[in-house]
Amino acid sequence: MPSISQNLNLVRQRIDAAAKNFNVSHHIRLLAVSKTKPAELLQQAYAAGQRDFGENYLQEALEKQQALAELEICWHFIGPIQSNKTRAISENFHWVHSVDRIKIARRLSAQRPEQLPALNICLQINLDREDSKSGFSLDELSEAAAIVAELPGLKLRGLMAIPQKQAGFEQQQASLARLQQALTQLQPQLSQTHAPLDTLSMGMSADLEAAIAAGSNMLRIGSDIFGQRDPAQ
Ligand SMILES: *Cc1c(COP(=O)(O)O)cnc(C)c1O
Repeated sequence: MPSISQNLNLVRQRIDAAAKNFNVSHHIRLLAVSKTKPAELLQQAYAAGQRDFGENYLQEALEKQQALAELEICWHFIGPIQSNKTRAISENFHWVHSVDRIKIARRLSAQRPEQLPALNICLQINLDREDSKSGFSLDELSEAAAIVAELPGLKLRGLMAIPQKQAGFEQQQASLARLQQALTQLQPQLSQTHAPLDTLSMGMSADLEAAIAAGSNMLRIGSDIFGQRDPAQ
């Protein structure tokens, strides 16, 4: 079995190759998606230089945060958010990528502890209007972003999407490029102080290259770093 550090190296090589191929010069941040994986594997990734970790399930994430409290990890919440979980999310994460309703943003804002810096937020967009996925539609985005940008305790950093499965490279890239266009259109509408809008959170193991071609600067990679998960998860 290849080690986590070997997997990470391969992913980093793919990122570098794609960046070169598509003439990308901006920095691309790599988030290691560690859902369902034990703390020991996160520790191995950390030892190999990884600092950003993404988790989908609150309880599981809190346990790992406790086990790894000495490490300087930047924690990203990327899973579906139920209203009754917002307090713990707001108190224990640096980023939330999966804000899909105004109500959730308001709760995260109200519950962010005052002594902590603003919580970094991405709005989740349902790019392909799939019933199975949550997120704002592109039509709703401008209005939603204007509201979220004004909420205290939050910093609106950008947009996040999970593209359609099965799609080929061209289709993935075309779909993800719409997320980049949406961000570009939004930027002049909002104040940079509350909404720097510098983040495109897109690209998973299966569409890493297409995401880089479409302008991603925050990849969320799970199985190619930590190995396959149970298909239900
Ligand atoms: C699981 C997950 C990922 C990582 O997916 P892989 O295909 O394992 O790379 C990325 N983003 C979100 C929102 C996820 O739930």
